[in-house]
Amino acid sequence: MGTGPHFSLGGEAARVCGVMELEAVSDLDAMDATLCPSGHPNDPGQTECRLCRQPICQTAEVVSARPAVLGRLLFEDGTAIDVISKLAIGRAPTAGCESTDTLTVTGPQVSRRHLIVEAKGWQLYVRDCDSTNGTFLTRPGERGRRRLSADEAQPVLIGDSIHFGSRQARVVAART
Ligand SMILES: [Zn+2]
Repeated sequence: MGTGPHFSLGGEAARVCGVMELEAVSDLDAMDATLCPSGHPNDPGQTECRLCRQPICQTAEVVSARPAVLGRLLFEDGTAIDVISKLAIGRAPTAGCESTDTLTVTGPQVSRRHLIVEAKGWQLYVRDCDSTNGTFLTRPGERGRRRLSADEAQPVLIGDSIHFGSRQARVVAART
């Protein structure tokens, strides 16, 4: 004990710590969506559901829906946090000029403000904040891990894993 990672949450994220069901969805703007056969809202351009992978009929009616939270970061120690809008992660992350949630993660080779995970429209993105030791992405079916260019937002998919310092978080569906 004493050397393990510690987490603390700030902003909106404080409300969705751990496995608590989140209440912040109503803060999100409604967007155009098509529904999969199980009723999950999706980007109208998608041909398969981002959550359950069922095909979505391209003639399906476009409805207005509030997106469920697009993804949850599941750390190797079981810590889970839903990505509501913009989440800054690091040893001492600070909120940016826009409204930003913060997740404090300690550990070797973790920069003060290491990376940002954010939801834009129907897509989650990860961006390395010019960290000292970099942020890496692994994706099922792809060999090796990809180092992100600093300050370049990369789309992340459910099933991807984000690596930074000695830490690792898998991107999982927030709700199904
Ligand atoms: Zn679905």
